[in-house]
Parts: sequence; structure tokens; C-alpha cells
Amino acid sequence: MVGHGPQHFSKRVGEIETVSKLIVCSNRIVVFTGAGASTESGIADFRSPGGIWDKYDPEDFYFQRFLTSEEAREKYWVMSTEVYGCLKKARPNRVHLAIAELEKLDKLECIITQNIDGLHHKAGNSPAKIIELHGTALSVSCLNCGKNYDRDEVQERVRKGLRVPRCDDCGGLLKPDTISFGQAMPERETALAYERSFGSDLFIVVGSSLVVQPAASMPLRAKEGGAQLVIINRDPTPCDGYADAVINGSAGDVMERILGEVRREIGN
Ligand code: NAD
Repeated sequence: MVGHGPQHFSKRVGEIETVSKLIVCSNRIVVFTGAGASTESGIADFRSPGGIWDKYDPEDFYFQRFLTSEEAREKYWVMSTEVYGCLKKARPNRVHLAIAELEKLDKLECIITQNIDGLHHKAGNSPAKIIELHGTALSVSCLNCGKNYDRDEVQERVRKGLRVPRCDDCGGLLKPDTISFGQAMPERETALAYERSFGSDLFIVVGSSLVVQPAASMPLRAKEGGAQLVIINRDPTPCDGYADAVINGSAGDVMERILGEVRREIGN
């Protein structure tokens, strides 16, 4: 296990080489990303100091409350509008670009992401390779009839003063296509994510605290299927004990260096 500080530098170089060799030797690589993959794009994660749960109370955003309380829906749209403003401006960082490069090198089975920011798409990964476990903030749907809306179009209504947008066709509640606490996980994506995790030969976690279920059980599913497990995160996670390599540090820095090594090893 590798920590911060200069005394760990040579150990970290060793870990980076180890991980790049694993990438070169593996054929079914699954990369699992969390909020920490996008903090270097200026999107705060939720749990770190200064994150969204320092400012808002997660209790206010349970799906049941959205369904049953107009006041909760108003609060939801205030919080969600703030988060979306930040997501919309964000550009892919070194983490997203490194993962896009893995695909170009034909070294990526798929990305399983907890993120809702669309940055893997913006970085150039093919949509078919991206499994969005918690949905996307870039679109909105009617909870009643399922009609789909462009997020910007709905935000424009909110900007003009509408507090709780409703469906043009049926008057149902509109909600961004993200999964709230207490809301059912998307069936297809969840099943596919478990399947791909189990079938992987290398599972790389980047920037996740690995505490939110069912996402947190994916690395263990991968281990059950015989994969090597690599965890790249600033802070320790509950899965570190199962990992074959753990690198604690900036995800952008670590991923950039790993890709540098991979390129060198495969002669690109
Ligand atoms: P989390 O907030 O629980 O944990 C993020 C982890 O990333 C932390 O352990 C932290 O140590 C690490 N981290 C932060 N910046 C890092 C960096 N630069 N380099 C390396 N590690 C770094 O996030 P989570 O586990 O992904 O779960 C939060 C939930 O909130 C997810 O379900 C996700 O849907 C949602 N979320 C999404 C976004 C987004 O789309 N960008 C942002 C915030 C939260």
C-alpha cells in the first residue's frame, strides 16, 4: 500500500509500474469511477469537506420526499440547479483522458461510473463502453409518462422562475435522470455492471470512497470472478484489504503516469 509524501515516492513509482504491467497483460479491463475522478474538473465530491453534503442535508433529497412533498421538490431543484451549473461548465481532466486513451489502445472493456456528469462521454469514450450506474444529469424525464427532455430546456424554465417543472404532455413530475437516495437502481445498467465486473480480469477503481451500495460491491464481484483489483483514491476505502495494489494520491497525476508507462511498454 502506498501513501503520501516524498518518502513514498519510489514505492509509488513501483506501484505505477506494477499497474501499467497489469494493464498491458490484461484483456478485459473494467474501470470503475466515482466522484473523485471528476474533482480535478472542478466538480466537488459529496463527502469531502466542502462537498455538497456540507451544504445540503441528504435527508431532504430522498426519492420518497420528492414524490410526496412540493417543498422537498422545490429544495431538490435549487440543489440540482446549482450542481448542474457546475457540471455543465466542467471539462474532462487527466483521469477521463487517460481512460479514453485506454479505449483507443484497445485496452478497455468498459467504464462503470457512479458519476452523473457525462465527462467520460465528453472525453471521447464510446457510449457503448460507458455504464452510468447512477444515471445522468444531462437529461430530464417525466416520472409519470417517461417523456424525455433536454436538461438545458428544463433549466431555462427554472431560470425564468418555475420552481417545480412538470411534463407538457401529462402534468407529471419532471426529474433529472439521476438516481436519488431511495430510488430504484436502473435494472439494465446494474445487471450489466455486475456481469462485466465478474467477467473482468483487471478492475481499476478511480476516485471512489466505495461506500455507496450497490456500486461498492462491484470490486468484490470482480475479485470473485478472478480479477486483479487496483484502487486509486486519495483516501483509504473499505475494499483496500482485497486489492492487489492501492495507490493513494491525485487520480489525475496517477492515471497520467500509468498511461505514460503503458504507452512506453507497448511502444506507442
Ligand atoms: P464520494 O464523494 O463518496 O468519494 C469520493 C472519493 O474520491 C473520496 O474517497 C476521495 O478521497 C476521493 N477523491 C476526491 N478527489 C480525488 C482526487 N483528485 N484524486 C483521487 N481521489 C480523490 O464519491 P463516490 O464514492 O463517487 O459517491 C458519491 C455519489 O455521489 C456517487 O453515487 C455519485 O453518483 C454522486 N456524485 C457524482 C458526482 C459527479 O458526477 N461528478 C459528483 C459528486 C457526487
